[in-house]
Amino acid sequence: MKLVVFDMDGTLSDDRARRPAYEAKDWPSYWDEEAMLSEPAWPEALRLIRQHEEDGDQVGVLTARLEDYNREVTEKWLLDQGLFVTPVILRDDENKEKRPPEFKLFVMKYLKDMPMYDQVVLYDNDIEVVDLITKELGPEFVVHATWESAEGEPA
Ligand SMILES: [Mg+2]
Repeated sequence: MKLVVFDMDGTLSDDRARRPAYEAKDWPSYWDEEAMLSEPAWPEALRLIRQHEEDGDQVGVLTARLEDYNREVTEKWLLDQGLFVTPVILRDDENKEKRPPEFKLFVMKYLKDMPMYDQVVLYDNDIEVVDLITKELGPEFVVHATWESAEGEPA
């Protein structure tokens, strides 16, 4: 079976309203739960998920959001969008010192060796993530999610 995992912020969820807080490193505002819950999904991501499900692929989430702080809000948002996806992988305490690219590479290495999956692909808007996984695992393991930049918004 093929497993497809989507990044959350900027890939599945349209986090543009929270982006100024990100640029300002204002983490309490960036991780504000009401702001997170109220943001829409990217239509292109929803279309891709439907397509993968029709193809019989398993669809999950792989995000560097923190397990201890963001699990509940992430699962609630997914349900609000009607997305019943599994697994939903967040950055746990053991990996909290890893930067998002290193964390995602670590998880992708683990997933690709699971016997139940013959193929694992990550969709991510972060070019650093895309570059690292391409370099370490190969280009077939990652797709650069570019719908945001396609709309002329800052990537
Ligand atoms: Mg992202």
